[in-house]
Amino acid sequence: MNEAFVKAAPILIEIEKAGYEAYFVGGSVRDFLLKKEIDDVDIATSATPEEIKSIFSKTIDVGIEHGTVVVLFQGASYEITTFRAEAEYRDFRRPSEVAFIRSLKEDLQRRDFTMNAIAMDKEGQLFDPFNGQQAITEEEIVTVGEASERFQEDALRMMRAVRFMSQLSFNIENGTSQALIEYGHLLEHIAVERKTVEFEKLLSGKNRLKAIELLIQTKLYQYLPGLSGYEKGLLELVSFDIRELDLNETWSIMIKVLGIHNVERFLKKWRLPTKQIRTINKLTAKLEVRNQREWSREDLYETEWPEVASVEKIFNVLNHRPTFSNIHEVEKKYREIPIKNRGELKVTGTDLMEWYNLKGGPWINDSLGKIEQAILSGKVSNEKERIREWLMRCNHN
Ligand code: ATP
Ligand code: MG
Repeated sequence: MNEAFVKAAPILIEIEKAGYEAYFVGGSVRDFLLKKEIDDVDIATSATPEEIKSIFSKTIDVGIEHGTVVVLFQGASYEITTFRAEAEYRDFRRPSEVAFIRSLKEDLQRRDFTMNAIAMDKEGQLFDPFNGQQAITEEEIVTVGEASERFQEDALRMMRAVRFMSQLSFNIENGTSQALIEYGHLLEHIAVERKTVEFEKLLSGKNRLKAIELLIQTKLYQYLPGLSGYEKGLLELVSFDIRELDLNETWSIMIKVLGIHNVERFLKKWRLPTKQIRTINKLTAKLEVRNQREWSREDLYETEWPEVASVEKIFNVLNHRPTFSNIHEVEKKYREIPIKNRGELKVTGTDLMEWYNLKGGPWINDSLGKIEQAILSGKVSNEKERIREWLMRCNHN
């Protein structure tokens, strides 16, 4: 068994000692069977959240109403979810209430895809009532039960199908992909935040080009924030080899190729965190500059190296060049600029006020700007005394 499961096995043993069942489930079992790295080990149990809390000393309530408790154990945290059936669905969303049950099979039955509906006990024995292992061998994404029903219960599952296709490079079983076309519109009922989580995983997947193509073919993109009407742009996007771009770079190239002008408004529709919006905004702005000219010292100034590298990567992709071509040359250029940002200036506003014997005011900013320019262009070196001399000389001319 994988190390992550060995480490977590004592949790299953503790739960069993208390008289309940407990299994590893979901993504970790799937990824283990795929021989992929395992992120977090999820556990399903017949014990209720309260029962789990009485077994372990360190627990955190994260979603008691959905049956989930986090247990802290030997420096790691584990989500432990009570077997549940999702009896009643309203509005094509996850149910608001869940029924806790004591049957593993029923719990597996409410899961989205057969590959995600395999349980494993502490000895590594698998419980696979829906032939998830076969789906994994055949590299196929198949819903547990009728796709049309399962997508009507929770429309997010459609986005999940496409993101798993992107991450795992699996095919989507015929009936399942037919249902994507038929029920795609139900995605309108799904909270943006949930769609964003899946979309970002899709954009980060190895097979993202095929996944975006599928979003186009099935018309699912029409029900994603800000993308309705962008079929042509998305088709153009998949003509570029975007596979080696990271998440924010992928957002940026998408914005560029789709021709979205108001970056902030678009990303707010996806409810991305403000900090991420700022980063993507900066990348797209610098990309515009890069599209006009080679990097100048001024262009590199006030930009962190990772952002410069990101812009260069996107620029290469847009020009159908290998993603990392030329990166070393640009890095060399970046390293050679004498100052990277205003914080590195060896003079401050206080120095200027002293030298000129003047009070503070907008002139300080202007003056610092001139000094920056002079340093960047090599007219003066970034040393306090040299800068002072240069300023005095300027004043005399
Ligand atoms: P990842 O590796 O990205 O975490 P995952 O399969 O673990 O993939 P999660 O979102 O962490 O995905 O969900 C854990 C498990 O819960 C899934 O494997 C699946 O069994 C079940 N699940 C998650 N979302 C749904 C859903 N919308 N409908 C049915 N089952 C779901
Ligand atoms: Mg998971």
